[in-house]
Amino acid sequence: MPEGIIVKALSGYYYVQGPDNEEPVQCRGRGIFKKRGESPLVGDRVRYSHTENGEGTVEQILPRSSELVRPPIANADLAILVFSVIRPELSLILLDKFLVHIEHAGMDAILVFSKLDRIPEGDEGDRIHREMEAAERLYSTIGYQVVKTSAHSGEGMETLRAALAGHINVLAGQSGVGKSSLVNALVPGLQLETNEISDKLGRGKHTTRHVELILLAGGGYMADTPGFSQLDFAELGIDEIGSCFREFTDYSQSCKFRGCTHTHEPHCAVIEARDSGHIASSRYDNYVGFMAEWKEIKRRY
Ligand code: GDP
Ligand code: ZN
Repeated sequence: MPEGIIVKALSGYYYVQGPDNEEPVQCRGRGIFKKRGESPLVGDRVRYSHTENGEGTVEQILPRSSELVRPPIANADLAILVFSVIRPELSLILLDKFLVHIEHAGMDAILVFSKLDRIPEGDEGDRIHREMEAAERLYSTIGYQVVKTSAHSGEGMETLRAALAGHINVLAGQSGVGKSSLVNALVPGLQLETNEISDKLGRGKHTTRHVELILLAGGGYMADTPGFSQLDFAELGIDEIGSCFREFTDYSQSCKFRGCTHTHEPHCAVIEARDSGHIASSRYDNYVGFMAEWKEIKRRY
């Protein structure tokens, strides 16, 4: 039985793209899925069979490596996290907040600094360059690839294209940072629907949002709807925030107390690593801020 990937789900049909990237086959799901409460998602790798009428049936959903809720998509493995260096300016708090949610979803991230062509000459430009380069050093040391781009001049686009290849990619980043512009430059013909519009229409179980995966020329897919638009910590456990800071996990096993929250405990290896400069203080401070935010959310509910 052939294996394929669901690239679109619409009106009870699943569109499955086979191994040769031919036109997707329009499939129904097996009745048993409903009984079991299983629901095929865009991004699912599936086994499918052909029926006489040129359509097909999704027979089996293969195990998922990740599952996003907004937009509903399975097996996304790489988030393209876009921050512009100017208008809006780079915010490390927001950047770390996005990274927590991406890590929590079990995905890797690439940081894209966008709109490089917009950096002015002179003192302001020098400051922006310094901040951007410091952020690039920090995050690449932690293990995130950083790509500096301009959708207008084309800078960095080949590097980005190569980084996306072979993955199921989801864009992330606040409104106005240039996500649509990047994608339109990378994936000709794709008009990105932004989250802002659907947020205004209302979200939740009743909205019929559909997400589609667009095949990339170099292999892999790009989701046509950005993810991670909701960045509160309500869905995370208290001990999960720390594990979403990649570099903390090198130290947290050495904390004296089990269940150390790395905020006030004596002999905390994370705090010691911050003091010795092995963990950046901006990362540590954002972690402490997120823990406080988490407590505030739990207090309110
Ligand atoms: P999105 O909301 O993240 O999808 O952002 P858009 O792609 O819609 O871009 C927001 C604004 O930034 C638009 O006015 C774009 O023309 C502008 N923009 C996007 N990318 C670039 C870039 O690389 N250089 C410059 N100068 N402007 C850009
Ligand atoms: Zn600790």
